Amino acid sequence: MLGIDLGTTRSVVAFVNAKGEPETIRNREGEFTTPSVVLFEEDCVSVGKEALKAVATVPEKVARFAKREMGKDEYPIKFGDQCYSPELIQAAILERLRLDAEARLGCTLRKAVISVPAYFDEPKRRATIDAGLLAGLKVEAIINEPTAAALAFGLESKPYGSGVDPIGGQPCTVLVYDLGGGTFDVSVVALDGTQFVVKATDGNARLGGMDWDKCLATWLDDQFAASHACRPSTTLVGQSMLMRESEEIKHALSARNQCKVRIAFDGFQLRTEITRTKFEELSAHLLDRTRFTVRHLLKGNAIAWDAIDRIILVGGSTRMPQVRELLQRESGKEPEFTVSADEAVAHGAAIYAASLNEVESEDEKKTQIRVTDVNAHDLGVLGYDRETKRRCNHVMIKRNTSLPASNVSRFETIRENQRSVAVEVVEGGDKRGKSSARIGKCLIDDLPANLPLGTPVDVLFRYESDGLITVKASLPAAGRQANLTIDRAVPGSGDKFNKMKDIYAALGLQEDD
Ligand code: ADP
Ligand code: MG
Repeated sequence: MLGIDLGTTRSVVAFVNAKGEPETIRNREGEFTTPSVVLFEEDCVSVGKEALKAVATVPEKVARFAKREMGKDEYPIKFGDQCYSPELIQAAILERLRLDAEARLGCTLRKAVISVPAYFDEPKRRATIDAGLLAGLKVEAIINEPTAAALAFGLESKPYGSGVDPIGGQPCTVLVYDLGGGTFDVSVVALDGTQFVVKATDGNARLGGMDWDKCLATWLDDQFAASHACRPSTTLVGQSMLMRESEEIKHALSARNQCKVRIAFDGFQLRTEITRTKFEELSAHLLDRTRFTVRHLLKGNAIAWDAIDRIILVGGSTRMPQVRELLQRESGKEPEFTVSADEAVAHGAAIYAASLNEVESEDEKKTQIRVTDVNAHDLGVLGYDRETKRRCNHVMIKRNTSLPASNVSRFETIRENQRSVAVEVVEGGDKRGKSSARIGKCLIDDLPANLPLGTPVDVLFRYESDGLITVKASLPAAGRQANLTIDRAVPGSGDKFNKMKDIYAALGLQEDD
């Protein structure tokens, strides 16, 4: 079974080898990571390095950062006259990863555990499962990225050649700070041998390295406009040049205090310099947002820095010195790169995938990996406050509750002989249900005739271990389960999925030569 880290900018695939160790599977170019980039050409679709190269010349044919769009109906750019859903773009990446892994290992691989940011809400998780299904993969489980990183940290006895057991067999509590290309997560995880208990998690599904790139790109654009009478940002090719150069400058500034800038656009050139201090100034508000999230998480869950034994950095953007410095200032501890920032999540997903196999002997059961995670968002129902008559979000399962969790809420019929009750289920958002993700409306539509006003209807909400949600309803007075429909499909079914499947089948992913 595969463990897949489907990243915003780069993806990694791993499996647990015959020795029981997680191992990254190289792609067809022989590399450990594959750019999460898809090129849509007239006759074929290509994924990875080649697609990334095409950003320079035909940016209008390239889909990037689709992970940030998950949960939406459409990717914001049209290709030709075709709109694609974000999950279809993710599917092309997943299929390419699967085909490369199959070629490398010489066998068919149809099962996977896919990692998602802990802060992904339920529609984004479902969209990820749909992407897997489109790519010909059975998604056995979804695992949160920081949780996967904690698994890799706790279980790789010889982490990346250091020869040191990272936790010396002692129970310990780690804070995982995961800043990737497009998403940010922070989780506190208690480790004890093969037991992993997530205590709390928080994050931002739209904050990552690309936002730091955008800060630099705006600065470069302004510098360019100040010296020449044009702005690269006014064209698509100019924008992609700015983003590419910005990322390179950012990488250089992780290693050096200053860096030379040379960019060319439309026959003009810009030569200047930028210091790390300047870059940190330009992006300070972004780092601040991660600081706010970390503080909020610790405070909101009554966790003191003293209770954190280790700080683990994951994700490519933690290579920016400002991240390490921030955490050091906040905690008074030295954050560490004990796990590989690039591979830890995929390795953790592979370890988790292997742990899903049934074990038989008692010995094996003792050492079986157990993971308890939490939900990153409140689960609630939208209703009206009886007194104020204003819309309100009635929270059923609070965020950072250990999963699986369930709760029953009692609703009442408001009329004599009422035949149906409708309940809108939402995830996250504020007290009024603003900016909540709509999980679905459940309609209990076959209530028996002549029920008196105020007849109780119990609705059971359940958060599954992987963050998926199920809802059931019962009618205690009538002594039976009410019929409940949620107006959305289970993963891999429904009109939207079938339509995507047809479009995807017609695309034709580029095959190996
Ligand atoms: P994701 O999993 O979201 O695709 P990654 O963990 O692979 O993200 O991190 C990718 C991000 O890390 C990109 O924004 C990239 O620019 C950034 N990154 C990689 N190396 C460095 C570095 N040396 N300095 C600063 N940022 C880096
Ligand atoms: Mg990542």
